[in-house]
Amino acid sequence: MKKLLILGAGTAGTMVANRMSRLLDLDEWQITIVDQHATHYYQPGFLFIPFRMYSKNDVIKPKRDFIPAGVELIMSPIDVIEPEHQRVKLVKDNRVLNYDFLIIATGTQTHPDQTAGLHEHEWYKSIYDFYTIEGAVALAKHLRTWPGGRMVVNVVENPIKCPVAPLEFLMLADWFFHEQGIRDRVEIIYATPLPGAFTKPIASRHLGDILDRKGVKIVPEFLVEHVDPDAKKIVSYDEQEIEYDLLVSVPLNMGSDVIARSGLGNELNYVPVDKHTFLSPQHGNIFVLGDAAAIPTSKAGSVAHFAVDCWSENFLRHIDGLEMLPTFDGHANCFIESGFGKGLLIDFNYDVEPLPGRFPLPGIGPFALLQETEMNHWGKMMFRWMYWNLLLKGQELPLPARMTMAGKWNS
Ligand SMILES: Cc1cc2nc3c(=O)[nH]c(=O)nc-3n(C[C@H](O)[C@H](O)[C@H](O)COP(=O)(O)OP(=O)(O)OC[C@H]3O[C@@H](n4cnc5c(N)ncnc54)[C@H](O)[C@@H]3O)c2cc1C
Repeated sequence: MKKLLILGAGTAGTMVANRMSRLLDLDEWQITIVDQHATHYYQPGFLFIPFRMYSKNDVIKPKRDFIPAGVELIMSPIDVIEPEHQRVKLVKDNRVLNYDFLIIATGTQTHPDQTAGLHEHEWYKSIYDFYTIEGAVALAKHLRTWPGGRMVVNVVENPIKCPVAPLEFLMLADWFFHEQGIRDRVEIIYATPLPGAFTKPIASRHLGDILDRKGVKIVPEFLVEHVDPDAKKIVSYDEQEIEYDLLVSVPLNMGSDVIARSGLGNELNYVPVDKHTFLSPQHGNIFVLGDAAAIPTSKAGSVAHFAVDCWSENFLRHIDGLEMLPTFDGHANCFIESGFGKGLLIDFNYDVEPLPGRFPLPGIGPFALLQETEMNHWGKMMFRWMYWNLLLKGQELPLPARMTMAGKWNS
């Protein structure tokens, strides 16, 4: 039997397990997937928890429910990958798993401990995050009775997963405080290391204008050096200070510790791979999918989905000894919730930045690119159903894996 080993049963790993259980002959292949946690989190839903649009139960399901028959699921922390021996050591029972092909899909995690003052005595008192289930739930509780004041949202450093999530948080906060009748008592500040609202210039201008209209003040190029939890201020490397009553941080994102222990990653524990095929340049039988890969596109579930679409066909070519095709183009597609029942949508790839237009049907939509519409909001809300019922199960969605220019216009 040939052995396909998948590390991480999150968004990307689960999709790969489902796809490969259909595409490979299970009389010849043994597929195994490993994860440390039994619960699968719908992470885009964390955004809605602080504003009581979702509760914890809306974003969790057992991982086992999404692993197909014929695929072995092992629950254990992964200790180390040893590519030279084609094996992976697990923590539980010191088990050793050999592989012929390895898929690394261990994602990215937040590290609040990497910023001085952030993860100390004020953590979950006046300082919160919403990138973890614990943070999102704690923040929801805090916002129930928060009387208002200055709320500062700070991204510590890029890249982060879902780079639009902090913007959505700001716009939903504006809506939420209006609903609570306290918007006039809340000042909202966004301190970001970027020169503007977003990484790409056209979208940055559109989104910056929207934030401006909503009364959100952007402090660009703010690189936080430390947090002073007692004086309640964040301090940058160039000694700018911003005081807060409530700090919502997006802490440093880093790839899994197992990547560092295995000597496979860069300084942030992301694994360098070919950006079109996901193959490791050092190891011809290791692929990296999802947030764990060091490739120049967004770390997002939509990217993982398009990536798995392109990669599946290439993997079949690879195991048949054929040359892989450079099919993955960095395609990302993200709904951006903007409050008051509206949202935006962006669609881009390695070469084309988000542009205005209609999606997916050129000229028709029903979704509008880079424009606030109610339909986009419903797209975002429908996405949770699609995630649990289609995407994770590796079903084909009626969306092209590669970005298309049809329906987009330059402005
Ligand atoms: C607040 C928020 C909002 C978001 N919004 C969107 C959105 O609107 N649209 C979108 O497309 N994406 C969004 N995302 C991003 C999306 O959730 C991720 O990009 C996606 O889940 C990445 O999938 P992945 O498989 O690479 O990683 P994950 O789904 O995080 O899975 C990684 C898995 O690896 C396991 N693992 C890691 N290390 C080990 C180890 N040592 N031992 C065992 N197991 C290990 C973990 O337990 C985990 O199950 C959002 C994320 C957040 C946090």
